[in-house]
Amino acid sequence: MTCALCPRNCRGPRTPDRPGGVCGQPSAPVVARAMLHQWEEPCLVGEHGAGAVFFSGCNLRCAYCQNKPISQGGVGKPVSVSRLREIFRELIAGGAACLDLVTPTHFAPAILEALGDGPWPVPVVWNCGG
Ligand code: SF4
Repeated sequence: MTCALCPRNCRGPRTPDRPGGVCGQPSAPVVARAMLHQWEEPCLVGEHGAGAVFFSGCNLRCAYCQNKPISQGGVGKPVSVSRLREIFRELIAGGAACLDLVTPTHFAPAILEALGDGPWPVPVVWNCGG
């Protein structure tokens, strides 16, 4: 695909297994970490934590990024859309107060496919840093 998913509009050549563009990621999702995250804003954490999924790469490339190994350092592994849906379900089964999708925009089509038609029992937070 020639990518124009985000306001960078860089037209990077991305395929499911070939990274490209400013975000430096393939079109299929790459995830660095999924966890119940206790240190997000209190309204996202609830009793057991935010259901955080940290996606690899980022279209912003801020110099001061606190997640640089993930956003710019290539940390993460590819997951299928069906595995991503399972991850969402596992976080909710663990008590997640929300699905906290961290730096998701460059994987928007795959994430929307994983979310499907819903409904999901918790809010979905598009944590894009923008
Ligand atoms: S999502 Fe990535 S490849 Fe697509 S326009 Fe934005 S920076 Fe470029």
